[in-house]
Amino acid sequence: MEASERLIDTRAAILERIAEAAGRAGRDPARVDVVAVTKTVPPERILAAIGAGFRAFAENRVQERQAKVVELDAVATYPAGEQPRWHLVGPLQSNKVRRAVELFDMIETVDSLDLARRIDRIASELRAGRPLPVLLQVNVDADAAKSGFAPAELERDLAAIVALRALSVDGLMTVGRLVDDPELARPTFVALRALSERLRARHAGLGVHLSMGMTDDFEVAVEEGATLVRLGRAIFGARPSTG
Ligand SMILES: *Cc1c(COP(=O)(O)O)cnc(C)c1O
Repeated sequence: MEASERLIDTRAAILERIAEAAGRAGRDPARVDVVAVTKTVPPERILAAIGAGFRAFAENRVQERQAKVVELDAVATYPAGEQPRWHLVGPLQSNKVRRAVELFDMIETVDSLDLARRIDRIASELRAGRPLPVLLQVNVDADAAKSGFAPAELERDLAAIVALRALSVDGLMTVGRLVDDPELARPTFVALRALSERLRARHAGLGVHLSMGMTDDFEVAVEEGATLVRLGRAIFGARPSTG
């Protein structure tokens, strides 16, 4: 499949850039996973990406995942252990929590104690004994346009969140500012990692994952400790503009 072949090269080039960035920071590149962000990407290209070796995927809207899931499941049977995993990386409204718990393997955008409690309640119902992996989204730059916990809010609420039995609180996530120069994103990534270290010293229930870095700044994020980089355009090219 021609599309798959091109994506094999793309994936190899991305992994090479991650390896180089990890090397500069003395990190093990195997600790960095690529999450392929497929908003606006049609199912056949997602299947090509699976064929090219990508395994972790993300949508930013529950409805878009839902619209594609039938096609993806109909075509594909996966060898054991190679099923694609799906992350939610967009804001989650409370009336969509049930669908999100059904459709995603990880919710990266838990941004309030209320939302965490609601997800916990539904996960305990739908997936008893299998805690749902989540990340806590942090608005590191206090950007009014972005969702996420303020760091002080997270310090206040984290004990209550890690106590929720149907959630596995695997780490923190942030959406960096849009910047022309990736260096300008570095302070955000440094701050998220520092916050994670500070919080983990007091809360054993918080995992080590740091989801940070996108197409324009993922190498800087890897240098600063990202374990998940969320890449859309680097893999699938420019998105159609949604004006
Ligand atoms: C779209 C999106 C990405 C990927 O962005 P690119 O710049 O295309 O890599 C990452 N994270 C979130 C939350 C997104 O919505």
